[in-house]
Amino acid sequence: MKSSLIILYHREPHDEVIENGTIRYIPHKSPNGIIPTLKSFFANNFQGTWIAWKQVSEKQRSDFSEKVSVENDENYHVFRIPLSPEQVKSFYYITSKEAFWPILHSFPYHFTSKSSNWSNFVEINCLFAEAACKYARDDTLIWIHDYNLWLVPYFIRQKKPNIRIAFFHHTPFPPADIFNILPWRESIIDSLLSCDLVGFHIPRYSENFINTIQSLRSIDIVEKKQVPKHLTSMGTALAQREFTTKIKCNNQIIKIDAFPVGTNPKDILQVLYSEYAVKRFRKIKESFHGCKTIIAAGRVDYVKGNTQKLEAFDRLLKRRPELHGKIKFVLTCVRAATEIRIYKEAQNQIEQLVGAINGNYSSSSWTPVTLFTEPVSLLDLFCYYKAADICWTTPLRDGLNLVAKEYIIAHEGVNGVLILSEFVGAAIELPQAILVNPYSSELMDQAIDEALGMPEEEQREKMAKMYEIVSTYDVQYWANRFLHHFSNNLKA
Ligand code: UDP
Repeated sequence: MKSSLIILYHREPHDEVIENGTIRYIPHKSPNGIIPTLKSFFANNFQGTWIAWKQVSEKQRSDFSEKVSVENDENYHVFRIPLSPEQVKSFYYITSKEAFWPILHSFPYHFTSKSSNWSNFVEINCLFAEAACKYARDDTLIWIHDYNLWLVPYFIRQKKPNIRIAFFHHTPFPPADIFNILPWRESIIDSLLSCDLVGFHIPRYSENFINTIQSLRSIDIVEKKQVPKHLTSMGTALAQREFTTKIKCNNQIIKIDAFPVGTNPKDILQVLYSEYAVKRFRKIKESFHGCKTIIAAGRVDYVKGNTQKLEAFDRLLKRRPELHGKIKFVLTCVRAATEIRIYKEAQNQIEQLVGAINGNYSSSSWTPVTLFTEPVSLLDLFCYYKAADICWTTPLRDGLNLVAKEYIIAHEGVNGVLILSEFVGAAIELPQAILVNPYSSELMDQAIDEALGMPEEEQREKMAKMYEIVSTYDVQYWANRFLHHFSNNLKA
């Protein structure tokens, strides 16, 4: 059956469980992220298809079901593109992580194209496009997510010249001179120019995209707008006053928009108020032994600035011995799923720094840093957010950063302090945070001192404002913003 909405996203929207030898596809339990919101489109407006990839071994391939239905989710089905472990490694972990990722995050010196397999990337993107075309009607809306699927718009447009195609970038988009390092830049840009709408988290990224197009292709700027007030935190690294919202290329109009992804405040609070979470929260709070506690949550990745945080914490303990025994740093740093050299190095560095800090300062009753390298469950993490006095979110670069928003929700505008890097997308939405340049040791030291000394009244005032912002511009707002671009001709 054909669909009115097709979503292409690298993750499947369900969990797979085996019961009595039978595979069941059940909805994701996670209350977080955009998957529940994207799925809600199907319930509200559309009959649809979700397209993702699935790693399958040679043995599994013979009885692999490409098309599956998720229990209790009747408005859509999932089409999975079977990829071999070698294809996934090359597509997802090498080409994407070693070539695209460092460029997208403005770390050109980590870029290497040596092990990239561009033809494999093209082939997989082509498979996604073919799958989308198979389920599309002429009036279908196709929404493609993220850089792994950069070439899909081009392949779809070849087959379906009039279909509506939207693309959302979940990462930063770097300045033109960095993006143009990619040897495949023209194919990528031409593909994105096949869309009707290209969306980014913030206006700075969309302007970087426009500058890149202008360096490679001849286009007309059709419309520019003032950046909306809630995305204009002037005087900070990613601030932007004006942005381009419409361009014309080969006689086609392409809309450009910047709308940061939000969280699901209601769902996060529902988790936090569950009986089990209330108990976990108490336990976690007790484990702090009355210490002032800082939380930082993320992955092992050089873009996340974990080293800089640990170095700043080490300096803090050196500078302020009166804090010994009275402060705790909980760092969740989820290890990378595969053996990528650069991530292995980053992880070793983190473990060495944590070992050195704990080795230097621990006492029989106090360990300054707690490090988790396995994923902490969302429920536990939400409890840690709520229990922590300070959230230290200072990536060197990050498309948006959901952790900062989740921390704000968990505190419900009552207390807490957020230290936020100026180089994450969320910084332009949250000027009430302690905004910091993580490249400067001095500024990092000042930020942590300011956070530790912030009076309760000031905490409340700032967190209340941020709570209002994050609750208003939530993930539903983001979804509605997308839909409004196509609202004239929505068809169910
Ligand atoms: N997260 C988690 N367990 C962990 C660490 C992080 O569930 O141990 C979650 C975190 O709550 C957030 C997401 O992973 O929802 C990370 O999103 P973010 O935008 O901050 O960073 P990304 O990993 O997408 O770059």
